[in-house]
Amino acid sequence: MTIIQKNIMHVRQQIEHAAVQAGRTTLDVQLLAVSKTKPVAQIKEAYMAGQRLFGENYVQESIEKIQLIKDDCSFNDPICWYFIGPLQSNKTRLVAENFDWVQSVDRFKIAQRLSAQRPTNLTPLNICLQINISAEASKSGTTLTQIMELAAQVSLLENLTLRGIMAIPEKTQDQAILSQQFKALHHIYLKLQTLYPEVDTLSMGMSADMQLAIASGSTMVRIGTDIFGRRN
Ligand SMILES: *Cc1c(COP(=O)(O)O)cnc(C)c1O
Repeated sequence: MTIIQKNIMHVRQQIEHAAVQAGRTTLDVQLLAVSKTKPVAQIKEAYMAGQRLFGENYVQESIEKIQLIKDDCSFNDPICWYFIGPLQSNKTRLVAENFDWVQSVDRFKIAQRLSAQRPTNLTPLNICLQINISAEASKSGTTLTQIMELAAQVSLLENLTLRGIMAIPEKTQDQAILSQQFKALHHIYLKLQTLYPEVDTLSMGMSADMQLAIASGSTMVRIGTDIFGRRN
């Protein structure tokens, strides 16, 4: 077994442990393998360990890798591709054409473009709205006060399906602050679910804060470093 395959097994065990501790099951929490900056050969190792959901941040890099993988017959099951990085207007077309999900939608203009540019022979693009939960100026994401309005607008777009929210919490060791932010996100998630029946994704939790995120109701953790190792 390769290091990446061992890492995936270990992360899955951690997810299971955290889920059981929280009275949930592993089936409630999906694992998104964040493969940004990592080569196709490493994605293949994760794929061989059964991983099918991959997250990417950079448009050009990810399109190249998605194309290489499409042309490589050793990937015979489909991979589900998630775009999770900051997205500028001039890059939306490539994302609309090549990804299954975008979890980093933070303004209506981007959503409109994604909907208009989604090829109609594909299923609607799945969308999570990114929330800047700590309201840090350096971070992208919509705010808590704007989220419901943005959700209402996005839910009307034809070639998109609103599936939930994504957030990167504050970089802090303070468990109380983290827990408070995760709880606030869970609260919004439940509120969105009552309004939009297709909402089923609360994407929160990364390598460092996975356990608390799962205890707070996360349905998807996004793990890069703990699977593929450090990035340069
Ligand atoms: C890079 C990234 C991750 C993965 O972070 P790690 O600390 O490497 O696990 C998760 N979510 C987003 C949005 C990212 O950009």
